Amino acid sequence: MALDIPADSTADSLETGSTLRPDTLAVHLGRPAREPDAPLNTPITMASTYVAGGDVEYGRYGNPTWTALEEAIGGLEGGRCLTYASGLAAVACVLDLVSLGGKVVAPRHAYNGTVMQLADHESRGRLVCELVDITDTAAVVAACEGAALVWLESPTNPALEIADIATITAAAHEAGAYVVVDNTFATPILQRPLEDGVDLVVHSATKFLAGHSDVLMGALVTQDDELYRVLKGRRDMLGAVPGPFEAWLTLRGLRTLPLRVERGQANAAELAQRLGAHPAISEVRYPGFGAIVSVVLTEGAMAADLLTRKTKIWLHATSLGGVESTFERRRRWKLEPATIPDGLVRLSVGIEDVDDLWHDLEKALDDLVV
Ligand SMILES: *Cc1c(COP(=O)(O)O)cnc(C)c1O
Repeated sequence: MALDIPADSTADSLETGSTLRPDTLAVHLGRPAREPDAPLNTPITMASTYVAGGDVEYGRYGNPTWTALEEAIGGLEGGRCLTYASGLAAVACVLDLVSLGGKVVAPRHAYNGTVMQLADHESRGRLVCELVDITDTAAVVAACEGAALVWLESPTNPALEIADIATITAAAHEAGAYVVVDNTFATPILQRPLEDGVDLVVHSATKFLAGHSDVLMGALVTQDDELYRVLKGRRDMLGAVPGPFEAWLTLRGLRTLPLRVERGQANAAELAQRLGAHPAISEVRYPGFGAIVSVVLTEGAMAADLLTRKTKIWLHATSLGGVESTFERRRRWKLEPATIPDGLVRLSVGIEDVDDLWHDLEKALDDLVV
């Protein structure tokens, strides 16, 4: 699907308003103007303050390296972007907007850091939270009544459930609620929620956007100028800003996002099929797109733990979305909900050779069924 470059993006380098595809945007957005001897890449601007009298003034209010990254992420999602010190810093800034006592609807299987923030707000009487099964569209629509904010994540982490974003967004707007989608798993290459009318997209750019397991970074994207203005003002005030070096690394990683997503997805689809045929696996969850696959081990938690310790290529680690394949048993985290099977292993499929990935897994799985 084609995207229009927003009017405030790199007008010097690319024809403003022309319709370019994500693969091209990922490579070209957020670069300096094309002038003799200008660098092709935006430099890392290490600055806590600026000479007075300009638009920025201080390092918490803006940085040219963030601006370049924000142009690129904003261009890919189709809105205006603000970057944050981490995904959860971005989440916190959104939840902080809900008025005292406001109702938030959220997936029961949302990212557990998000659920923890909601529970924390609720325990202090700051807001009321209703957790829903995101696949039950009718129930989610019913829950929208009286809500201030409807939080969606699709696919969810790690259950990989899919929400009907367009239908829920229409119902939420009807009820007067804002709609946020955590688009970390799908990335703007596979899903652009702003096109479905969603008000705000959240990213843990730590994952696929940066893609190399070496930075923490968060992002918000919106087409609503008023929402952007409010969020920018609150980022200035609250200070959850990214570091310039992290912003530069994220932008460098973003250049190859379409290629990484394409390869990770192809590997994931192939592995999901092969894993489903292995007797050590009782269930494979793969939504048909993306690079995350969850499997449930026939023999439960102990077998799942054994699997994550027996491979040579697959790395046992939390997090996801890097070039390297990683996996973990999610219930090893005490706060993971009991509705996630004890023996569920979430695989973040990287860009290695698919046969190498498979043989490494197959050997470890074969050892489990003696
Ligand atoms: C990791 C993650 C987050 C939190 O992001 P951090 O960068 O770790 O703070 C939020 N949502 C989803 C879906 C995630 O996977």
